[in-house]
Amino acid sequence: MLEETLTMIPGPTPVHPQVLAALARPTSSHVAPAFVESFRKALAGFQALGQTATGQPVIVAGGGTLAMEMGIINVVAPGERVLVLSHGYFGDRFRDLLEAFGIGCDLLQAPWGQAVAPAELAARLAANRYAAVTITHVDTSTGTLAPVEAYVDLLRGRPELVILDGVCATGGIDERFDDWGLDVLLTAPQKAIGAPPGLALCLFSERALARRRARTAVPAYYADLLRWLPVMQDPGRYYSTPCVNEIVALGEALGLIQREGLAARFARHGRIAAAVRAGLDALGLRLFTAAGCRADTLSVILLPEGIEDPAFRQAMAARGAVVAGGLGPIAGKAFRLGHMGNIAAGEVVAVLGALEGSLQALGVRVEPGAAIAAAAPLLPAPAPR
Ligand code: PMP
Repeated sequence: MLEETLTMIPGPTPVHPQVLAALARPTSSHVAPAFVESFRKALAGFQALGQTATGQPVIVAGGGTLAMEMGIINVVAPGERVLVLSHGYFGDRFRDLLEAFGIGCDLLQAPWGQAVAPAELAARLAANRYAAVTITHVDTSTGTLAPVEAYVDLLRGRPELVILDGVCATGGIDERFDDWGLDVLLTAPQKAIGAPPGLALCLFSERALARRRARTAVPAYYADLLRWLPVMQDPGRYYSTPCVNEIVALGEALGLIQREGLAARFARHGRIAAAVRAGLDALGLRLFTAAGCRADTLSVILLPEGIEDPAFRQAMAARGAVVAGGLGPIAGKAFRLGHMGNIAAGEVVAVLGALEGSLQALGVRVEPGAAIAAAAPLLPAPAPR
C-alpha cells in the first residue's frame, strides 16, 4: 500500500514514496546549479511525455486551471472566437474562462456521459472559422474519453489552433503532441503523472508561440508566456521564483514514467481499468459513461437504487478508501473512482474489497469475493522502479 488511506479519487492520486522523498529534500536556491539541472530534467521529461521534439514546455506554479488560462490567453485574443468541445464540467470551464477574457465561444456540448460525434465537429468547421478549438481529453466529471484522433484528423491543415486539456489523461493515456498536430497541451501533475498538485504544465507549438509573439500584450502578467520563455529555455534565469521542491518532485515522477516506458504505462492503465470494471460488474454496479468512450483513468459509477451518496462514501471511508462524489447533474447519483498514476494491483484489490464491504453494510446483496475474483486475472504486473 502506498498510503494509510487509499486515495482513489480522480486526483490528487497517491504519490510514490520516491516522489515524496524528492519533495522533502532541502529547499535550495532557485538558481543553484543542481536545481537548474533538475528543472531542465523536468522540462525534458514533460516534453518526452508529450512525445514532442519541438513543443515548448512551460512549467509554472499553479494548477490545471492556470494551465487552461495560459493555454488560452496567450494564443487567442479578446474578440476572437473559440469552439469548445465539452464532455462535462471541465469542458464547460473553457466557456467560463473565455467569457472572463472577452473571447467568443461556441459550445458543442455532448450529453453527459457521451462524446461529441466527429461529424458534429466537421459540420461546425464547414460553416465557421475559429481562432482555436478546445478538447478535454478526459472530462473528470463524466469519465468521458474524447475521440481526439478523429477530431485532429478533421483539424489537420486548418487555421484553428488545437488546444488539448490533458489534466485527467496525461501520463495515463497516449498523447502525441507532434503526430496529432496539437498546438497546446495543458495539464497538471496530480493525476496520471502521480506527483503532488501545485503546478501548471503546458506545451506550445511553434504556431502557438507565433500567435503570442504577434501580439504586443495579453491580458495577464504572471501567465504571460513571453515572460516565462527565457526561464524555460534557460532555467537559471529568474522571472518569478519557481516552486523548487515541487519541480524536483515532478522530475522524479517523470523519471518513474520514463523507466516504466510510455507504452507499458498506457497498457497498465488499460489493464487496471479493465480489472476495476470486471470487479464493478461482479458487484452489480453500472457505469455512467457510455460504452465506447470510457477513459482508462477513472470510472464514473451509478449508485445502486436506494443508496445515498453520503452514507456510501462514509462506509467507504470507514474501510480506508476515499472515492469522489458525482458532479453537476449526477451529484448524489454517482461516484467517481480514480485509477490512474501509481495505482497498482494492490489498490484495485483493496478498493474492490472496500466496495464489497460498504455495499453489504448498506444492505445491498453482493456475492462475497466475486469482485476480486473477477478482477484478479486482469491485473497487471507491478511497474518496474
Ligand atoms: N481539467 C480537467 C480535465 C480537470 O480534471 C481538472 C481538475 N480536476 C482541471 C482541468 C482543473 O485543474 P486544477 O484543479 O488543478 O485547477
